[in-house]
Amino acid sequence: MTQKIHFLGTGGGRINMIQQLRATAGIYIELMGAKIYLDPGPGALIKARAQKIPLNKLDAILVSHCHIDHSNDAGALIEAMTDGMREKRGILVGSVSALEGPDKPVSTYHQNALSKRIVLKPDEQFSIGKLRITTTPTKHTDKTGIGFIFHAENTISYLSDTNYTKKIAKNHIGSDIIILNCLYLKWDDTKANGYSQKHMDVEDAKKFIKDINPELAIIQHFGMGIIRHGPWKVAEDIQNSTGIKTVAARDNQIIKIGAKTNSLKAWTKR
Ligand SMILES: [Zn+2]
Repeated sequence: MTQKIHFLGTGGGRINMIQQLRATAGIYIELMGAKIYLDPGPGALIKARAQKIPLNKLDAILVSHCHIDHSNDAGALIEAMTDGMREKRGILVGSVSALEGPDKPVSTYHQNALSKRIVLKPDEQFSIGKLRITTTPTKHTDKTGIGFIFHAENTISYLSDTNYTKKIAKNHIGSDIIILNCLYLKWDDTKANGYSQKHMDVEDAKKFIKDINPELAIIQHFGMGIIRHGPWKVAEDIQNSTGIKTVAARDNQIIKIGAKTNSLKAWTKR
């Protein structure tokens, strides 16, 4: 059975999103037979078609929070998943803000096209076939945002958009692979004009990785600072200072997940 994480878009943030230097199409995951589309931002439908993702066979779409770079194409993917709204099938999972809030990005029309919709808060769980998924808290401008932990042969954490807190890191201890939305190169409060930090920066990513201590850390969802600096340099810096294997995902990159015993070999072979 294929186990893989397919990065369709590794960009995030407003300026990168409108420029599309890195795509904002989200992540396609196959684990324990479940086909899942995670956080379909702008361009998800187009990138999924280009990368031959089997949209009509998707089991679930997961939306971690309501922001446009995570949710914009959810409606279009639901149409693809339901054969143009003709077949009621599939599961939509999302935060309160994504599925119920006043500015919910997924319309009621589209939500009704699925066989099931699940609205989740942190620390809840659900299953897609044999795959159990738990939700985790985030610290972000969307107060109802959630992260996901996929309990497959390997445990895979997607922290979603969040600043570092020790408490959030604690939720992910025990995960073999963690996916970090590392948007800022360096957040500087003195240059923030009173704005508070909304996203993880490289120092936050290091703290998460040190606390969680996974076998592999994957950084993605890059903003302009990291894209200009070079995401691979950032990954190298993080790996050097944490001692934990860290890679910067590229658009269209597929990371195949091996069985637990030979997983590290499989990752390093790429
Ligand atoms: Zn966000």
